[in-house]
Amino acid sequence: MKPPITESSDTLANLRLIFDISRELATAFDLRTVLTRVLFLSLRNVQGSSGAIIVLDDNGRPVDSAIIHGGNVQDGNTQRLQATLEGGLAGWVVRNRVAALVTDTAEDERWIKRQYDGGSPGGPGSSVSAPLLVRDRLVGVITLTHPEKRFFTIEHQALVQAIADQAAIAVLNARLLEESQRRANVMTALAESAASINATLDSEEVLNRILEQISQVFQAEAVSLLLIEPGTQDLVFQAATGSKRHEILGQRIPIGQGVVGWVAEQGEGLVLQDVQKDNRFYAEMDKATGYKTKALAAAPIRAKGKIIGVLEALNPAVPFQNDALLVLEGIGNLAGSAIDHAQLFDQVAAARARYLELFEDSFDPIFITDQDGKILEVNRRGEEFTGFSESSLQKMNIYQFHKVDWQAVGKEFEALRGDAPVSYESHLHPGEGEEVAIEVHVRHVTIDGLDRLQWLIRDVSEQKKLEKLREDLMSMIYHDLRSPLSNVISSLDLIAAMLPPEDGSLSTLIEIALRSTERVQRLSSSLLDTARLEAGQKIGNQQPVNLNSLMAEATEAVSHAAEAKGIGLTARAPKQEITVKVDADMIRRVMINLMENAVKYSPEGASVTLSARVKGKQVQVAVADTGKGIPPEDQERIFEKYTRARIGAGMAKGLGLGLAFCKLAVEGHGGKIWLESELDKGSTFTFSLPLAEAQAAE
Ligand code: ADP
Repeated sequence: MKPPITESSDTLANLRLIFDISRELATAFDLRTVLTRVLFLSLRNVQGSSGAIIVLDDNGRPVDSAIIHGGNVQDGNTQRLQATLEGGLAGWVVRNRVAALVTDTAEDERWIKRQYDGGSPGGPGSSVSAPLLVRDRLVGVITLTHPEKRFFTIEHQALVQAIADQAAIAVLNARLLEESQRRANVMTALAESAASINATLDSEEVLNRILEQISQVFQAEAVSLLLIEPGTQDLVFQAATGSKRHEILGQRIPIGQGVVGWVAEQGEGLVLQDVQKDNRFYAEMDKATGYKTKALAAAPIRAKGKIIGVLEALNPAVPFQNDALLVLEGIGNLAGSAIDHAQLFDQVAAARARYLELFEDSFDPIFITDQDGKILEVNRRGEEFTGFSESSLQKMNIYQFHKVDWQAVGKEFEALRGDAPVSYESHLHPGEGEEVAIEVHVRHVTIDGLDRLQWLIRDVSEQKKLEKLREDLMSMIYHDLRSPLSNVISSLDLIAAMLPPEDGSLSTLIEIALRSTERVQRLSSSLLDTARLEAGQKIGNQQPVNLNSLMAEATEAVSHAAEAKGIGLTARAPKQEITVKVDADMIRRVMINLMENAVKYSPEGASVTLSARVKGKQVQVAVADTGKGIPPEDQERIFEKYTRARIGAGMAKGLGLGLAFCKLAVEGHGGKIWLESELDKGSTFTFSLPLAEAQAAE
């Protein structure tokens, strides 16, 4: 029977219907309720037998639906409705955004057979469909059917459109409400995960909690966490749940391979309801473990804006919902900072353990005190060294067992407040036994955020003993050798003078004895000068001396050694007479030392030149050779005591004292000494001396 639509009652009935519908819908917020109410109202007013509503998201994808057939609400299978949307009447309406009337389903191409009702013999004969539009936004489509052909008319179509217009707003509101509820659920899930994950700093526990959260949220069969290994940049399975976790732990996947590799490379998450349909899925892992992955969601783990790994959830109990990616990505971000913090904590803990080990195993005693010197910690060696136990030391102040150099550390240790370390020599008064010579190195340190002082004490008693021995030996050489040597020299001089001139061989022997003895005398004088100059003594015996004659005497002293080695020795005296006010013997020895070195460290046939030139108020004396040269890395330290160059030192024996003496002697006269040298080309040692005043003034 046709609906009683008449011209006169039309408007009134329509208005009434719209009023009813808007009243009915005003109280429904839940999308499901809205949909079924709209359908029931429509069927009742238009008198259809079946109806369906499909709700679309903003991308035109079906997100929900309701079907009423034979007066019963059926489970809306949104997926199944996809076909209707692609090829059926509803699809046509969605595409054209206008209502449509199919008076005979058998003759209208827009109608797909067996659309809603399984194609029973009494299937739809006619149908009417209208888009649900809110302004220009399409939120769904409603379709009503009737078994009779030509049952629906153009008036029905208008009526359905009127209902659809009302329903659209209610559907949109319900959809928005549902979305915001879902978002709220996501936020709650994330907040719960955050609370749980961040409640610990233990790395392993953090990883386990992350997995636990994901398992719970998705009811997933297996969850894994992979981290990028810094060296290889491979993704390595660090933690996993599920039956195959033992097999996959430690396995690696290169970035770019498989779904997790893709996620790490692209930096975006992915949900696959059926992995077999996606060619990014890497089946080898399943083959190796015998696991069967069906659905999968994966998201990157980010820390400080960098991707450090991937999370994946496999085979959820119910298919992944729309918000699965949002949740997993959220947990990925949480996981990143939690892992980062836990790793940092591990590093700090490891560094502290290492520090403690170093502290305990240090060969030197170490004390940690507060800023006032009260002992807080001491290592094993510290206990042994002082002879006090840790507990008694902890009642003491650092100044109670060694003499603090207050000048170095400042009153109340105020010089130690900054970062500069302070060192001084001192003595330790141990619990028992004699005083021990020590070197103290103290500096400010921060331990667990607190200001502390770290005292490193070095036992230098052996070193001191050796120094003393050397000093004793030196003074023995100076005092006990010098006067007998002078006697030997004067006696040899006398003998030489007494020999008849024709006795050549004897005088040669005496000359050799004289030269050798003079060398020993020069060496002992230089050692004595070195010790005095080091102790800060001034050079006393400074007289105006003719530099030209000093140069001649020095050359003469070395000439024999140079000749013996086939080395050409040249002295280029300056044209003018140069006067310097110096300790003549000392400066002569400096020149001899430099020339002897040049001869010693140059191969046969080389040449050595002594020259001098005036430069301003100074004279510069240079000894140049064509020998081996001195490596650049040795040039700085060559003037230090007991230092010998790595190259060339093998050519001749030496103590490494000569140049140290030259430097002290030259500087003691207000001059400088320096070296220019190139390997295999030769070396030039130059020293400067101030000119005697009268000459400098000229
Ligand atoms: P010694 O000659 O007793 O070793 P020196 O202090 O005089 O001590 O010299 C230090 C080192 O410098 C020498 O061992 C040698 O290696 C290097 N050296 C000095 N003079 C020369 C030189 N003219 N050519 C090359 N090496 C030199």
